[in-house]
Amino acid sequence: MLAISLLSPPYATLSYAAPAWLDDSVWKCGQRVVVPLGKGGMLRAGIVVSIDDDSSVKKGVVLKACLWPAEREPLLRPEYLVMVKQLALRHMATEGEVLGGLLPAGLRTSKLRLRVLDGGRPRTVAMRDIAKMTDAERSVIGALWASNDVEVLDSTFDAEEQELCSLLVDPPWSVRPSAKRQIEVLEYLHEKGMLSRTRMLKDLGSGISSALNTLAERGLIRIGSREEGACEVCQDESSECFSDIDEGFTLLPEQQAAHDEFIQLMHAASPKSALLYGITGSGKTVVYLELAAEALAKGRSVMLLAPEVALACRLENAVRNRFPSQECFFYNGYQSPAEREKTFRTLADRTAPCIIVGTRSALFLPSPELGLIVLDEEHDTSFKQDEGLVYQAKEVAYYRVQQSNGLLLLGSATPDVKTFHAVKQQAVSMSVMKERAGEGRLPEVSLLNIKNLKRADGILAPECKKQIRETVERGEQVVILLNRRGYSPLMYCLDCGHVARCPHCEVGLTYHKERERLLCHYCGYSVPYPVVCSKCKGLHYLPMGEGTEKLEEHLAEILPPDTKILRLDRDSTRRPGKMQRILDAFANQEAQVLVGTQMLSKGHHFPNVTLAVVADGDLGLNLPDYRAAERTFQLLVQASGRSGRGEKAGRVLIQTRDPEHYCWQFVGSADYDGFYAEEIERRRKRKYPPFVKLALIRASYPLDWNKGMEWVGSLTEVARALGKEHDVRVLGHTPSPLPILRGRKRFQWTLKSDSWISIRTLYYAMRNAVPRGSKLRLSLDIDPVNML
Ligand code: ADP
Ligand code: ZN
Repeated sequence: MLAISLLSPPYATLSYAAPAWLDDSVWKCGQRVVVPLGKGGMLRAGIVVSIDDDSSVKKGVVLKACLWPAEREPLLRPEYLVMVKQLALRHMATEGEVLGGLLPAGLRTSKLRLRVLDGGRPRTVAMRDIAKMTDAERSVIGALWASNDVEVLDSTFDAEEQELCSLLVDPPWSVRPSAKRQIEVLEYLHEKGMLSRTRMLKDLGSGISSALNTLAERGLIRIGSREEGACEVCQDESSECFSDIDEGFTLLPEQQAAHDEFIQLMHAASPKSALLYGITGSGKTVVYLELAAEALAKGRSVMLLAPEVALACRLENAVRNRFPSQECFFYNGYQSPAEREKTFRTLADRTAPCIIVGTRSALFLPSPELGLIVLDEEHDTSFKQDEGLVYQAKEVAYYRVQQSNGLLLLGSATPDVKTFHAVKQQAVSMSVMKERAGEGRLPEVSLLNIKNLKRADGILAPECKKQIRETVERGEQVVILLNRRGYSPLMYCLDCGHVARCPHCEVGLTYHKERERLLCHYCGYSVPYPVVCSKCKGLHYLPMGEGTEKLEEHLAEILPPDTKILRLDRDSTRRPGKMQRILDAFANQEAQVLVGTQMLSKGHHFPNVTLAVVADGDLGLNLPDYRAAERTFQLLVQASGRSGRGEKAGRVLIQTRDPEHYCWQFVGSADYDGFYAEEIERRRKRKYPPFVKLALIRASYPLDWNKGMEWVGSLTEVARALGKEHDVRVLGHTPSPLPILRGRKRFQWTLKSDSWISIRTLYYAMRNAVPRGSKLRLSLDIDPVNML
């Protein structure tokens, strides 16, 4: 009997019989297979998760037979299956859901074909043909399989999946205003980045099919797979990005000390985790590389992960410079499914040690024995995936090093409060680097109270403008952080005071001037601007507040006319390669000012920047999230770290309306230890993690479903009753901070307890109280990083 986890809905693990037409020895754990499902002869791909003898099958039960293996040797090793199982248990998902969420699309398909060498003349047989054959016919092919005369062809899987659509132009779009469909496609791509054709048709309706083709013919978009060999991030450029890290540094004393300590941990007899707590610019990358060298020398593999693709690309280049002849695999969510599948397969077969570089999804690559996993910028919330398959990269990374007695190394200048707490509890070792490598010194930080700033004067205080101007005039560079894209986040109707809102999410629409549209930042809904007010039919709006676009415009007015200003945000980096081009241009000093969202606070190295401005330091402090202060502290210290990385001293100006907030005294001196001491006391008092286990259960239902509220109420009763029994504090239900999203009403419960098991028990009971096929959706987010 084979237990097989399905890789697509219903994602269940089902029992199948080993069929008569193939020898029993064909089946192996971790192997991909094709199985029939239901009465209609549907086929599904699955993974064999266990093989048992038939005695466990109940009398009288006749099992369906597994149809065919999708490969001779299993794709997944036993320890990989163990990890999947643990992950499924932790997040109360099935193994199929976990595997379905992490395998590249081409490895989850049942649409496979066999090449059968039958008497010398090859023929092709699809899985669905086999499904229709008699047992006798199947046995013929089964015998040929045994004599190696059958091979599985590369998946014919959806050529369309590999047809990625991407923009080749920027707005405003050069199409007729009446070409509504084309505009819709362009706008959607601009908002969402690269999408497969299938996904486009699904989201926008099949009516856009001809618009896609027209746009491609006219050269406004590109449809196709990526060019081989081009760097995924830089795409159409040569892959010369970030090559500032060379071979042959002598380690500085602090780097050497950290290195020596971590080497010991890496070679210890049991798995370890450690924190490299090094200020921005202290040279953490070089430490990672030297540790990687040691692991490779001992025949073990290495994974280097960054929270974001541009930083992963920088790591990749650092690796290629340091290890020119070492094989390095690069993996991230921007790659096409075909590319990811290729990497996945190659690594599944590989036994020689290698280096893997990527974003969080690379963590699930099969790999030879791992001696070291590095999570750079470990505090970054992108290491948690909270849509679809929910997981925390740190957790998965630790499973993986546990399996191979390796070292998990977390690096940051502003560690996650939870990580630092674990250090204080002596569960995690730590090495500290307090000096900047090379010339850089930590910048001098000052606060600027903007409580009395008049809106009409824009978002920058006069003192701030003065410093920006002076810096530019000295020929030095400035970065300005404003964590809000678009032109204006609020559009007031001048006639009736009504605020323009998204019809699906009720959030205020942001005005994007370049694109002449109002946009919902949550669901991507957009309307052309000007638009009539939905309340009074007026046409006059007052844009309130300032986003990056408006700030850029404003700066152009106050700076010397020949000043070049660049903008880095999701809008300006939509097209593949553009982010890199902007960063490169700024690094090459083709512009004096770089305005951007938090994208620019991360990891980048600009030696000529001597002034960093945080235009609105308070954004974020008021979010309904117990980690708001931690987030703000991290963001601001990281942003400050962009200044003074070269020979010249740097300055940081932070504008705030709330200068009394406890966060500031620590941001000023980048005093993480001080911040930590204060923050951990607050959490202890208010019972927040790490002193309690916290989970969020979210419920949502369609706006027009009138039974929804009743159901939410009854679930609260279920939760409360069980909460008493299991010592779980249940807060809620309350409307989610975004109460309506994508046409669904949303509620949530916050659960606090000393035990994950109790929290899971509660969730399990709530889920069971919801009937199958209900319009109510329920999900569990363990240790949420995103409380919205
Ligand atoms: P961070 O700790 O912020 O990640 P990086 O690893 O980016 O810092 O290093 C900052 C800069 O210091 C880089 O330009 C790097 O080349 C330089 N650097 C690092 N280590 C050394 C060293 N031992 N000698 C000289 N320069 C170094
Ligand atoms: Zn919306």
